[in-house]
Amino acid sequence: MTAQLDLATVLLLHKSSFLVGALCFLYLRWQSPLNGGLGILAVGFLSLALASTLAGYGEQKLLPAYLWTLSSFTIGLCGYALFWIGLRRLSGQRRRHADWLALAIPATGAVVGLITHFHVVNYARATAFNTAAFLFLAASAFAVLADRKGEPLPVRAIFAVSLALGAALCLAVVVGLLKPDMLPVTTTYAFFLLIISHFAIALFALVLVKERAEAALRRTADTDMLTGVGNRRWFLSRLPRSGWKGDALVVLDLDFFKRINDRFGHQAGDQALTAFAGMVRANLRPTDCFARLGGEEFGLYLPKTNETQALAIAERLRRATEQLDVRFDGQRIALSVSVGVAFGQDMASNWEALFSMADTALYQAKHAGRNCVVAHTLSSQIEAEGAISRAG
Ligand code: GH3
Ligand code: MG
Ligand code: MG
Repeated sequence: MTAQLDLATVLLLHKSSFLVGALCFLYLRWQSPLNGGLGILAVGFLSLALASTLAGYGEQKLLPAYLWTLSSFTIGLCGYALFWIGLRRLSGQRRRHADWLALAIPATGAVVGLITHFHVVNYARATAFNTAAFLFLAASAFAVLADRKGEPLPVRAIFAVSLALGAALCLAVVVGLLKPDMLPVTTTYAFFLLIISHFAIALFALVLVKERAEAALRRTADTDMLTGVGNRRWFLSRLPRSGWKGDALVVLDLDFFKRINDRFGHQAGDQALTAFAGMVRANLRPTDCFARLGGEEFGLYLPKTNETQALAIAERLRRATEQLDVRFDGQRIALSVSVGVAFGQDMASNWEALFSMADTALYQAKHAGRNCVVAHTLSSQIEAEGAISRAG
């Protein structure tokens, strides 16, 4: 297919791919202003389009060699440096002022060019330019992958591949310039693949912004606004539908919370809820799931936890709640919590059954005077049912 493409058409498409990419970045910047780096990416691609245009005019002898060679070389390198700065900002969501030092590379290239005039030698200029382009694109691919630890978006892998493809093509051009018989692809074919990588880079930047927005929406939908822990919806989504054997479910309900609100005010109650949730979260293992089920009631799912361990965890949380130092207007708000614990056994094959068992145990804990941990047993179930029917 590429055999039918002439170099002039490919060069025009090459320039156009930068312009389309720049438009894409500008549109994203307008629509998603919270994502940093998009404006810098757009300016980077526009610089590359300008450098490509100047080189095109130069090749057609519309500009004198001394003018187009140094200007297209410097503006092109500025474009790649800006691209790298913008991409690091977009990918890592951090402003790193030190990144601007990358512009020292085109500046140095321009100064060396003015002194040595190396840029008028096509071979020297193209080797220096493509080496720098390779380094900027390879560093960009690395940045996109390295940032996946902080933000594991699925698009990162393919985005890094498209950047690495661009880097590999620049390297192939350098190899071809140094050892022409070793050039793995023709110049036309290398430019054709570069065009594809530019479109891919713009496309995957768009997908990254989209996946980031979706992840933020999911986080908001799953998080309790007041305490910052998971909400009921998230908690239920994390519970196994069956196969509970060896797991434990804990329900925690703060005692006499209405009185706390009545005495200290709703704002103090909110502060107590946040402090309690923060304390529990800080006391859990990474595999445990903790959420606010609603009001002053919280749920805790302990996978692969036997009865002794689950009761020890519940008791530790109960004691830590008593010791929580929550202060409002200089006064200490004394807190306590009642805890119901249920264990996955053969008879409890689903989470609804386990929830009902943990609720029964919690009811027992409240009945026993609060501020205590009660484990669900068959006798506690019968006792609770008796108490409920007597009350009814
Ligand atoms: P018990 O020991 O039996 O659990 O008594 P309680 O007062 O804690 O239970 P009850 O269900 O009677 O009252 C729960 C209170 O929790 C009532 C409600 O005002 C308060 N509450 C629920 N959600 C919030 C909230 O988001 N913020 C504040 N400040 N209070 C809340
Ligand atoms: Mg309560
Ligand atoms: Mg309650």
